[in-house]
Amino acid sequence: MQMTPAAQAAARAFRAAQRAALKHANETDPPDLTVSVYVRQVRHLCAAHGGRSVNLELREHYVTSPQYLAWGPPSGAVRAALPEDWPEQADGPLAGDIPAGLFGFIFTRGRCGACGMTARSSSGRLVDPAQRPPAAKAVTGD
Ligand SMILES: [Zn+2]
Repeated sequence: MQMTPAAQAAARAFRAAQRAALKHANETDPPDLTVSVYVRQVRHLCAAHGGRSVNLELREHYVTSPQYLAWGPPSGAVRAALPEDWPEQADGPLAGDIPAGLFGFIFTRGRCGACGMTARSSSGRLVDPAQRPPAAKAVTGD
């Protein structure tokens, strides 16, 4: 995806907000297992199965980006914010109105139906929804 400076600023703002939300979730509601966002299956010693090694499936959680407004001086750094966070004293002209849904952020989570053990990815990844739409078994929204 060829991105304008305004779209790049929106991508940075969206990724930072999603990383912060995931970090907050992992700190306030820590999972029993922390896994890589690229892992789809993890084995655990399941108490409900007599301590046997059992598969725990992780499902994709796909968040799409909201609208962003970007601003900045012509030769300076472009920054982006949500419309409701639009600064009263923006230090430059409007550089772009970035529509919702331009970016996706993926993290994974899962729960063993037998013992209740939970797993969540420690990080997520930014994707282009046109090239990487939600998986068939995705969980969207929250
Ligand atoms: Zn289990």
